[in-house]
Amino acid sequence: MEQTHKHKKLYIKTWGCQMNVYDSNRMVDILSALGYKQVNSPEDVDMIILNTCHIREKAIEKVFSELGRLRPYKQAKESKGGKMLIAVAGCVAQAEGDIIMKRAPYVDMVFGPQVYHQLPEMVLKASSDERVINTEFPTISKFDSLPDEHTIEGASAYLSIQEGCDNFCTFCVVPYTRGAEYSRSAREIIDEAHRLVDQGVLEIILLGQNVNTYHGAGLNGGTWKLANIIRAISEIDGVERVRYSTSHPRDMSDDLIAVHGEIEKLQPFLHLPVQSGSDKILESMNRKHTADHYREIIARLRKVCPDMAFSSDYIIGFPGETEEDFEATMQLARDVNYASCYSFKYSSRPGTPAANLKEGIVPDHIASERLARFQALINEQQTAFNQTCIGRTPPILFDRKGKKPDQLSGRSPYFQSVYVQGNERLIGHIIPVKITQAFDNSLTGEIEIYEDGSKD
Ligand code: SF4
Repeated sequence: MEQTHKHKKLYIKTWGCQMNVYDSNRMVDILSALGYKQVNSPEDVDMIILNTCHIREKAIEKVFSELGRLRPYKQAKESKGGKMLIAVAGCVAQAEGDIIMKRAPYVDMVFGPQVYHQLPEMVLKASSDERVINTEFPTISKFDSLPDEHTIEGASAYLSIQEGCDNFCTFCVVPYTRGAEYSRSAREIIDEAHRLVDQGVLEIILLGQNVNTYHGAGLNGGTWKLANIIRAISEIDGVERVRYSTSHPRDMSDDLIAVHGEIEKLQPFLHLPVQSGSDKILESMNRKHTADHYREIIARLRKVCPDMAFSSDYIIGFPGETEEDFEATMQLARDVNYASCYSFKYSSRPGTPAANLKEGIVPDHIASERLARFQALINEQQTAFNQTCIGRTPPILFDRKGKKPDQLSGRSPYFQSVYVQGNERLIGHIIPVKITQAFDNSLTGEIEIYEDGSKD
């Protein structure tokens, strides 16, 4: 393929999980080799990519309304004799690609999350007016042909180590849109971590739909698990912090719990989705564990790492949920006492087993009322947790400028947003900050002393 050097403009919009953010960054890397440069507006660009998420209700309608908003940009470009390619990528493309091709004839490419490494070929076809749809699950992993160079924003970066899922929770589309579990080799992962550190990354977030089932080829033969990867990454010079997401309670193995007590760079904060506190509902969701098993995991983690904090995901109003089941959910959240937590009303996803459940559908107004009660509890817990940070001096990783003049924004070990007054030369550094105030969703503080000993 002939390389062109006039920069072409690429607008990419990403919805959904951290994995989609990682994929979008990798698509930018692939296309930069073809002369594309990422821009922040769809005006007069050469390519638009919508990287979609299928998790929420009406996901495909959201895609069509966005396409409707973007179509005039393509018409304007083409009315001036130019060409603009529009692509729909990600999980909605994977699950409902045919519908997009039919309903939006002005879309040039539709491709799933497993084939974006074939962008060069797809762009070639689309550039010669051949519409492309590709929702394969190729045997050779995309990771084998992704460019070494990474698009990096700040000192924290995602590193995808595992993809797909074999759990088939009854409400979830991931096994159908991302396919079966696949774990990258330890060699690949460690090499990618070194490249990230060479580009100034201090914090590495290991990603997977079910990251704690990671089981990849080890460095010296054998199979490595997530605990092995965490140890290896934390030994790389330049890595200051390690995190991982997203985990399943059932796969919190002994060795993984142990590293939380041994590896200082492993941050004392874990996102551990549980979805419900009712064993009846957990069974109906096919989560393969009980609420007490979850309590036990939390207790074991707090034993090896006493200042550990947690977040989770909860689905409220799953079919069959009674007031008693909901109370079990509230009780579990009280027992864990979260630092933060995501919660949603159940929304049925086409193609998932739960979408066929007809019994015990929770009326929307009841689900909304329960969700409001649950979120009130979580807000209380989150605010109380933030209050406990006042007076402490945690290390903060500054990764961007704040909204106010001379304001910096960073992340605490507990992933809290922290704002300080400071010199932007601190961006990309980890600095101790004395926390002076706490709010529902953030903290503010003062920089006591700069790395070079200066105060300002
Ligand atoms: S473990 Fe997570 S990704 Fe896998 S099916 Fe369940 S909810 Fe979906």
